[in-house]
Amino acid sequence: MKVPFVDLKTQYNSIKDEVRAAIDDVLENTAYVLGRHVVNFEKEFAKMHGVKHCYGLSSGTDGNHSVLWALGIAPGDEVIIPANTFIATAWGATLCGAKPVFTDCHPESYNIDPDKVEAAITPRTKAIVAVHLYGQPADIDRLKEIADARNILLVEDCAQAHLSEYKGKRVGGLSTASSFSFYPGKNLGAYGEAGAVCTNDDELALKFKMIRDHGSHEKYIHYSFGHNYRMEAIQGAVLEVKLNHIDKWTEKRRNAAKLYSKYLSDFSEVVLPVEMNYAKHVYHLYVIRLGSTDTRNKLQAFLSDNGISTGLHYPVPLHVQPCFSALGYRKGVMPVTENLAECGLSLPMFPDITEEQIEYTASIIKNFFNKN
Ligand SMILES: *Cc1c(COP(=O)(O)O)cnc(C)c1O
Repeated sequence: MKVPFVDLKTQYNSIKDEVRAAIDDVLENTAYVLGRHVVNFEKEFAKMHGVKHCYGLSSGTDGNHSVLWALGIAPGDEVIIPANTFIATAWGATLCGAKPVFTDCHPESYNIDPDKVEAAITPRTKAIVAVHLYGQPADIDRLKEIADARNILLVEDCAQAHLSEYKGKRVGGLSTASSFSFYPGKNLGAYGEAGAVCTNDDELALKFKMIRDHGSHEKYIHYSFGHNYRMEAIQGAVLEVKLNHIDKWTEKRRNAAKLYSKYLSDFSEVVLPVEMNYAKHVYHLYVIRLGSTDTRNKLQAFLSDNGISTGLHYPVPLHVQPCFSALGYRKGVMPVTENLAECGLSLPMFPDITEEQIEYTASIIKNFFNKN
């Protein structure tokens, strides 16, 4: 049996007619950037996440940048971010000329550890970026308490966490501002590059609108510096269609995670992901941990030999990336993050994965441990 890591084709086939009609509408109407579909999508997406404003952008990375740019993060400032995340989280700070300060993650949630955040704060700290990694929200209440007590901004990177919930509330409106990615493989994926920013703050919303469109909200008048971070109309149209299905796809991911837990729970060799008691996890990734790097690598090869594709998230943590060598971090200072990098393995996860594929994957893992 073949088990891909992600399968986008089955999902496309299930919405093919709707998506093609929506794209056709864009082509016929010749408004190829922003436009009606993007506006409708923004409205619906904001409503879905319980947040007042949403602006469609060209990528999640541009969202990471826009959030900190609009908040005035500048050279000399420090921004605390988890060492365990995708590199784009760090570009938010670096593109503003600020210094990223990395912190370790929590051993159960794998998200930024509030205790470590507290220890990393200096007089220059201006913002904390809570990444809701793998689809599980970070511990927002504790982070907010820490940030509010010191007048530091708290923002969210929701690139992997569409529709996920913290204490019953959807992510995206739990902090000053948030960014989302709609990269094709994300839980809500466009058919190309796309992202968004959200906020409840009217003034900040206007800044987002201007940053994405050359510092302007009025033709030919540029009130501030800006960029071209606008969402393409085709992506807005695709996302508008997909919003009608995202609830169902999210539940299918959660169900797949339940099945993995069911079939893998009797292996002491495998540490399964934990859904924290405050969280509704949406399983962008299903990351297990093994006892050693050697075991992880051998298991990954064995799964591959048996037709099962897996991933690593993330094999080189941010604090030891070559681009950040000038910051002077050493290997060894982020033990939880480094353990995930060395011993973590992401199993196949997508809404259309079948119970047979999950059971098969679990049985191959079982064979591996019986043999070794
Ligand atoms: C994917 C991702 C991004 C970047 O989004 P793009 O749309 O690919 O630019 C940022 N942060 C995290 C945590 C991500 O997973």
